[in-house]
Amino acid sequence: MDGLTFVNATLILPHEVVPHSVLMATDGRIGPFGQGLKLQLLPHEVIDLGGMYLAPGFIDLHVHGGDGADFMDLTPEAFRAVCRCHARHGTTRLTPTSTVGRFAQYVRFLELCGELIDADTGGARILGGHLYGPYFAPEAKGCHPNLEFLEPEPARDAEFLRFAGKGLTTLTVAPELRDTERLVRAARECGLLVTAGHSYATFPQMEAALAWGVRHIDHLFCAMSDRARLRQAQTFPMRGGVLEATLYFDELYTEVIADGKHLTSDLLRLAYKAKGPDRLALVSDAMRAVDMPDGEYWFGADGDGERMRRLDDVGVTLDGKALASGVMGMDHCVRTFHRLTGVPLHEVVRMASLTPARILGVDRDYGSLEQGKVADFVVMDKELNVKQVYVAGQKVV
Ligand SMILES: [Zn+2]
Repeated sequence: MDGLTFVNATLILPHEVVPHSVLMATDGRIGPFGQGLKLQLLPHEVIDLGGMYLAPGFIDLHVHGGDGADFMDLTPEAFRAVCRCHARHGTTRLTPTSTVGRFAQYVRFLELCGELIDADTGGARILGGHLYGPYFAPEAKGCHPNLEFLEPEPARDAEFLRFAGKGLTTLTVAPELRDTERLVRAARECGLLVTAGHSYATFPQMEAALAWGVRHIDHLFCAMSDRARLRQAQTFPMRGGVLEATLYFDELYTEVIADGKHLTSDLLRLAYKAKGPDRLALVSDAMRAVDMPDGEYWFGADGDGERMRRLDDVGVTLDGKALASGVMGMDHCVRTFHRLTGVPLHEVVRMASLTPARILGVDRDYGSLEQGKVADFVVMDKELNVKQVYVAGQKVV
């Protein structure tokens, strides 16, 4: 069989939900679909979804681990384990995201991302690496390990940028670091998505960063400056920071960890109102404790990262005083965002599929049910539980 025909499907398209539909996919690409489509006699496997949802596979821009493994474990087996884990939660494409490590670890991470781009992992596939950690502002590191923080430096930056298009797609920087403009401009010339995160920059520094080419902001509301934080250094006049700049500039995309633990429904609604479904992506920001029992885990490399605890569906620091990344998959984030905000389902799914694809510049091939795009699907029941997952037309869950 070289194709799939779904019947009795409720299609989740970017702008509407269409029941009683048929969708065909041949040779790993989406074919014709819709209501009242005449079934063609093709050598296809026919799958009766009994009214269940058929949605585009989720795309996760910000994910560190799952199923006991972390991308910073730096083995192909760990990469595959994380990819298989997140496929169970509806993710079909992702950008492995590093944590704060050491120079040699970042290089090995990028090598593995390059070796495994679009490889069959038995689960989600890799779009390219998200280099996350070396260019944080150390005081905004959050739960990350206290290893090697780097300032931009041309020779060393080049050791990372040589992976552009060969394993590296996304670079996070704190714009207030010395000489970041040169790094951002160089990264943009290499075609990278440059994001700002783990930063206590001021509003004017963010406005400058936008002009250099920063286009996306990591996990809105988390590990970033705002009026209240900047007031600790200057009482008045009060100043805006990364948070206010993200809400203000329409050119900036951003993401939320919609696990219901990081942010309350009011902050999710504020993010949605300010940015809209085409500027706001859902991310898991998940670490290795996804699908694992409550307990202590390494955040980052096994034996060399930071100890944290999985407790009550979220990661927390060992003292329990701060959050330390997510432990839930994208399906949970879709359900939670939908439940907490009341935003229509097709928009919530869009924030987990087409919007992240656009942010990464891969929406020609991924992110929505559209003829000619790659046949990445997630099948969900009416309660939005994942029932089946297909990657490039192959069933993986
Ligand atoms: Zn982070």
